[in-house]
Amino acid sequence: MKPLCRQVQPSVTMGLDQQARELAAAGRDVINLTAGQVDLPMPEAGKQAVEQALAGDRTGYIPATGSPEVKAAVRRRMGWDEGEVLISAGAKPLLNAAAACLCGPGDEVILPAPCYTSYPEMVRLAGGQPVAVLGDPKRDFIVMREAVERHITGRTKALLLNNPVNPTGAVYGSEALRKIVDVCVAHDLYLIADEVYSSFVYEGAFVSLYRFPEVRERLILVNSASKTYAMAGLRLGYAVAPAPVAKAMGAYLSHALGCPCSLSERAALAVLAMDDDYENSLKTVFRDRRDKLCESLSRIDGLAIKKNAGAFYLWLDVSLWDDDIAFCHKLLEQEGVALTPGSAFCCPGHVRLAYIKDMAVLLEAGARMKRFIERNYSNSSGVNG
Ligand code: PMP
Repeated sequence: MKPLCRQVQPSVTMGLDQQARELAAAGRDVINLTAGQVDLPMPEAGKQAVEQALAGDRTGYIPATGSPEVKAAVRRRMGWDEGEVLISAGAKPLLNAAAACLCGPGDEVILPAPCYTSYPEMVRLAGGQPVAVLGDPKRDFIVMREAVERHITGRTKALLLNNPVNPTGAVYGSEALRKIVDVCVAHDLYLIADEVYSSFVYEGAFVSLYRFPEVRERLILVNSASKTYAMAGLRLGYAVAPAPVAKAMGAYLSHALGCPCSLSERAALAVLAMDDDYENSLKTVFRDRRDKLCESLSRIDGLAIKKNAGAFYLWLDVSLWDDDIAFCHKLLEQEGVALTPGSAFCCPGHVRLAYIKDMAVLLEAGARMKRFIERNYSNSSGVNG
């Protein structure tokens, strides 16, 4: 096997998720808060569209980057009036295609960190070099222009920004985005934007990087139906990119993937035509969970709780208590609560809690965490000192 593939690590998120599933299969009462997926049903309109497509034998290949009417629906819904639209099997293949098409051997991609667990490996698999740039912990780990500039070299090709951020739940507002745009324009970098959590912003409106026309000729913007419409397993994502990049990504996807799933594409057509009610209803559920869970966790001595502004993750600092991986393993073993260690996101010392269960289950998880922390760390000073 080639050395590159020996180095690539399987996703730590999936590793803990797997361990939690195994414990549950062995009869343990496990609350698994590791997976980054919505636990509510997808829209009825989407389900019906899949059934109709199946009944109509729409099971053959479709165009490699999606059918024209689905691209048109994405364009309309997202307001992407310039650039080429691509449809694929979720955001991941589109991000991989972008990395593969932009990175020559040794080219560097800046990753504001903490970052999504797959980004460094995507860049490595594309032959590039990931360069994690840690954000400012005092500013929700938002990465500042100066920090990015300190890491730019002659090999820097692109910056990959996720907003809202997995794992911190932070949201880049227009001012922070403006600085990222400026730095990309000033240093002639491509900007790869992953906005899969765009519909999960709890205060104020989400600002897309598409709203900055000056960066559009270097912007590869990715979104998907996975979170917005609770369709993660149907694998349906979309991107917009300048025509030459889109052409290369399309060619890559045609060889790597073939085409998106014909049934999922029909579901996408149906859900993209809906009004905002479904998205708003998800947002209401997740905001309520966030508020109640934060209130419950704030009773744990020494645990600093900061409400996340977006996505559906709480980002907890456990650095004064334990190593993050050890913390997660102990918590899973002792109390059956599975969280994801920050090491999976290039940021040890923290853990990520995905609030992807019913309120009662989340509150039970909070009670177990309180018991666990009191039992194991009551003599240490805790995060707040
Ligand atoms: N980007 C981020 C930041 C994610 O958190 C995830 C999934 N957890 C993905 C991309 C993958 O999305 P998709 O299911 O559309 O491939």
